[in-house]
Amino acid sequence: MDAADFDCTSCGACCATSSEWPRFTLEDDAQIALIPPELISADEGGMRCVGARCSALSGEIGKTTACTIYAVRPDVCHACMPGDPECLFARRAWGLPPLVLPGSA
Ligand code: SF4
Ligand code: SF4
Repeated sequence: MDAADFDCTSCGACCATSSEWPRFTLEDDAQIALIPPELISADEGGMRCVGARCSALSGEIGKTTACTIYAVRPDVCHACMPGDPECLFARRAWGLPPLVLPGSA
């Protein structure tokens, strides 16, 4: 695969691999208040997950997915980049092919 093949909206693996991943880090109360409360975990430390899947994720992994709170998603979600270690781990866990970005092959 190359960058032309890369599309997070046909993946979503990183949003459905670990309930420990979409946790809040440096967000302040105002940022967290923008997230619908029903999507926040009981301990208020991150996103509510069903199993390993974030409850804000819609769609089917590896086919068509979307973050339903994309504009206000947690910092860790902003930080995750296609091809980074978290991405590669998640794609591997879902049996999706690794991403090979320009300059990394
Ligand atoms: S696992 Fe990688 S390619 Fe898939 S949605 Fe996350 S960042 Fe995008
Ligand atoms: S908040 Fe959005 S980007 Fe972050 S894990 Fe959940 S679905 Fe993925």
